[in-house]
Formats: sequence, C-alpha cells, structure tokens
Amino acid sequence: MRDKIQQAAQALAPRLVAWRRDFHRYPEAGWTEFRTAALVAATLQRLGYTVKLGPAAVAAADMMGVPAPQELAAHMDRAVRQGADPALVARMQGGLTGLVADLPCGDGPTVALRFDLDANDIDEAEDDKHRPARYGFASQNAGAMHACGHDGHIAMGLGVAEILAGLRPGLAGTLRLIFQPGEEGSRGARAMVGASAVDGVDHILGGHIGFQATRTGQLICATGKFLATTKYDVRYSGVPAHAGAAPEEGKNALLAAAAAALNLHAIARHGQGATRITVGTLTAGQGRNIIPATARYKMETRGETSELDEYMAAEARRIIAAAAQMYGVACEITQVGGTKSGESSPAMRDLVKSAAAAIGFFSQIDDYASFGATEDYSHFMSVVQQRGGSGTYFMLGSDLAAGHHSNYFDFDEAVLAPGVELMATCAARLLKRK
Ligand SMILES: [Zn+2]
Repeated sequence: MRDKIQQAAQALAPRLVAWRRDFHRYPEAGWTEFRTAALVAATLQRLGYTVKLGPAAVAAADMMGVPAPQELAAHMDRAVRQGADPALVARMQGGLTGLVADLPCGDGPTVALRFDLDANDIDEAEDDKHRPARYGFASQNAGAMHACGHDGHIAMGLGVAEILAGLRPGLAGTLRLIFQPGEEGSRGARAMVGASAVDGVDHILGGHIGFQATRTGQLICATGKFLATTKYDVRYSGVPAHAGAAPEEGKNALLAAAAAALNLHAIARHGQGATRITVGTLTAGQGRNIIPATARYKMETRGETSELDEYMAAEARRIIAAAAQMYGVACEITQVGGTKSGESSPAMRDLVKSAAAAIGFFSQIDDYASFGATEDYSHFMSVVQQRGGSGTYFMLGSDLAAGHHSNYFDFDEAVLAPGVELMATCAARLLKRK
C-alpha cells in the first residue's frame, strides 16, 4: 500500500500546485469561504464521498464572529461569479461554509483529517519579488489573502481524498474529512463540533505548513501547549449630555470602557499556569464637548489550559459588568471567538513519526514543539480526546518567503506532495483492513 500511496502522491504533485494556486487566487476570510467550500464539496462528491454541507456541518447557534448578512450575500454573489456552483453556494446561506465528508469503508475505527479553509484580512503584496504576483496567481479579492498557507492545506486535503478513495477496498472503518471555516479568530471549530463533526471519531490528525518547522524537509510530529482563548466584543451605552452646561445628566461610556480596560489588565494571574489578556481596540464618544454615550472595545483572554482561560474570561466578564455599574451605563458582551487548549497524544505522534521515516523526503524529524499560541484545531482534538480518542497536530516544514500573516507570505510548494503522502499513510495505517 505504501508504494501505491507514494506513487499516487508524486503523480498528484502538479495538480496539488494547481489547486493551491487556484485557492490562492480567490482567498476568502472566515464564514465567506463559499467558493472554496463549493469546489471542495463538488470534488469530494465526484470521488464518492458522502458530503454534509450547510446546517448539516455547521451549527448556526454556535457560530462566532459572523459577518453581517449583507456582507455574506455579497460574498455569495462573488463566489458564483468566481466559478462556484450556485446550488452548492445556496446551501451555505448564512455563512455555513464548513463541510464534512465521509468515506465509509465498513467496520472499523473512524479517522478524521482536518483542514482549514479561510484566508486572512490583508492585502497581498503586488510587486514582482512576491512569487504569486510574478506568476499571476496573487489574490483577486481585495482585503483577503492566503497568508497562512491554508490554501496549501486545502490542496493537500483534496489530494489525500483522492488517494484514499482509490484505496477504499483495502480500508476498514470510516475516513472523515473535516474542512473548517473561520480558523482565524478561533471561530469555526465550536460550530462544527456543535453539528457533530467529531462524533464517533477515534483518531484525528491535522497539521500546518511552517510555524516552528521553518525549512523544507523538516517535520514536527506533535504539537502541544495550544492556548485556549475567549474573544469578546464589548459595547457600553450611556447617556449623552452637554459637557459644560449639564455633565451631571450624562452617563459616561468612555470612562467605563477606560476603567474596564485598565482593570482587565490587572486581573490576578493564576498560579497554575500561563494566561494572557489584551484589550486590543477601544473607540468611544462622538464630540469634544459631549459626554460620551457609547464605547466599544475588542478584547481576548488566553490560557495554557481551557480551565485557566475560563478563569480569565469569568474574571473579565465580572470586571466588564462592574465597570458598567460604576458609571451607570448598560453593557453588552458578545463572544466572537473561542477555542480549547490542546496537547497531542503520544500514540498519534509515534504514528506520524514512523510514517514520516518511511517517506524519505524528511531530513529532520522532530518529536514535539510547544506552540505557545492558539489554533482552532485544538478544539476538535480536545473534544476527541475527552471522549476517549486520540489526536496529533504536525508541523510540515517549509522554506518561507516571509512570516505567517505577512503580505509577502509564500511557502515551498515542494512540500505539498510529501504532506499528502504523510497524511494518507497515517490514515491508511489506522484504517488498514485486517
Ligand atoms: Zn494558519
């Protein structure tokens, strides 16, 4: 089976690059991945997968940080203009752009592979020193760019799907491919878990191009110390009044927000591990001589464990409300993102390690890296582990033109085929017919 997978992955290499460049040309940010999800769904249906889309894949009530309805509608139109099947796009109404595709192969374990669909909110570099611009596959969508390599992840997902569909008679169990929207901002995983995306999953595998694996040929088999996070938008509403004649009639939302910002940063740190808190934006008021009646801020907490993050988030909610009470203003807290912490399972790390050793492409195989940041995948993985399953997250090394989320970000496309081979090999071993 290994030779078959290797040959198939090598044969796929030019198509992986073509797919990647197509997705790169038409990047879509969280909950607007209509074109991307429609193309993935159409391809997987052709390969014989059972594809769940829209409400069957994303629980609308658990979505966070969703753009306004008119913005979503404009993106649906754009996706169709850019080649998406209108019938598939219509099924994703409301920004339900995730999909779950199953390949049932009889009795056996359920093995999930997860890929992220979304791009970043950044304008792509347009000068010739940037390869996508030089080769004509730079972003056609203003304000959006695949600056994190998710275009490569989606291409790998299609490659793995094709190879494993071809091996179906030799597999036992169920292969599940999860394509998630809204990884950026930690917005998508919770809503897919809410729609049963990982129900019955015994093993889950995901990965990322780059990060701590900084050069082509390097592979990190497991990642841990994913930070859990909670992201809030907060709005205070007070009462405007003349700042000279009748300030006592006003209720000052700006002061409430300022007091909250200072005191949020003063939350006592927990003795059991690392936490973070940031108020990243704050806007308030309308005029120099008017008691400010509105204030908004965007903030987030993080924690080394989900419990530590919940401690920070609970303290934050208390302070947000207390500041509102102190200044007599109303407050509204909206959760716009959030994900659990995570730690890879040793058994899955060992599986990736032995599969990688057999591939030959990898010249440096490391066991483990501590992430120290947040990745929405950890939400899927921790739910699978809580229910008795296992998972890991690998880092596929690549020479990078610039850091992640830079407008000059680009990776080495030579890593796509080995990445496909690695994931297909791991899944095939877990699903091997006895
Ligand atoms: Zn990413």
